Amino acid sequence: MRKYDRNAVFNIILKCMLFMLVFACSFCLIRFVFGIIFIISLLLSAVLAAAAVFLFSFLLRCTKFYYAYYSFVSRFLFKEDNGNVYCPCCGKHFGHFEDERFYDDIRHYDPRTFKRFRQDVICDFCRSAPRQRIIAKWAEENVELLKSSKILYFAPELSMMLWFRRHGIKVTTADLFERRTDLKLDLTDIDLPDHSEDIVFCNHVLEHVPDYKKALSELHRIIREGGKLIISFPIDDEAETVREDLNASADERIRLFGQHDHLRLFGKDSITMLENAGFEVDTIDLEAIPEDVVPVKGPSDYDSNLIFCCVRK
Ligand SMILES: [Zn+2]
Repeated sequence: MRKYDRNAVFNIILKCMLFMLVFACSFCLIRFVFGIIFIISLLLSAVLAAAAVFLFSFLLRCTKFYYAYYSFVSRFLFKEDNGNVYCPCCGKHFGHFEDERFYDDIRHYDPRTFKRFRQDVICDFCRSAPRQRIIAKWAEENVELLKSSKILYFAPELSMMLWFRRHGIKVTTADLFERRTDLKLDLTDIDLPDHSEDIVFCNHVLEHVPDYKKALSELHRIIREGGKLIISFPIDDEAETVREDLNASADERIRLFGQHDHLRLFGKDSITMLENAGFEVDTIDLEAIPEDVVPVKGPSDYDSNLIFCCVRK
């Protein structure tokens, strides 16, 4: 009887231990599986959240809220540091400007037109190039004029839109193709009354327009007498006058004018061309641009970065 009892007790203990072992293993296995499921859920959530943010950003690009959104989100994505260079568009300091990222996009650009000047010219926060920073420096000196003016901005540039937002200046934006502008306007047939604008900004648009002379005539028509046109375009500083080919293919345009959608490059007679269109022409003085905003040339060889500050006669 004692022997039977001992075996029974032994069996019970053994079964208990086996049960505990199985229970412990099952517990660990279930925990492990739940752990894996938890990690997978976490990763999936992160991927879905990132996809949602990208989709949201993409959709916002089509609306005029994009500039406010970019300004807000960029604060978390880009860090300002106490570097030597300063971007007057976004008002931030950096250790250095960044290389132009489309340098190697040979489907749309000719990299040979990006060799003569320095490439480290792009603001990492607002993507401004030297020409936009030059305009922002001019705008900083004319804040009161801009605040009291009716402003129309063709093909608005993100960096300058951030500048206008920072200074609380209202501008009406316009473009023929871009969906996030206030107005859809054709530069060669502007659907606005005569003399209706005080200041018009039109940077790097004229080289894309089939009839640039008509575009200049339309700009002259909508600006009031004494109003201003702030305009710039790519200039071949070795050409006497405008070089264009309206029938060139996209590949030929890249070869001839550096970019797939450029119909022309302007020449050394640009001031005369603007004067003939009815403007008194001055240029924003590049000598007065501080060292920390330069280099003022580049990134492309045709980016002479001459900004014409014209007064309508
Ligand atoms: Zn910037």
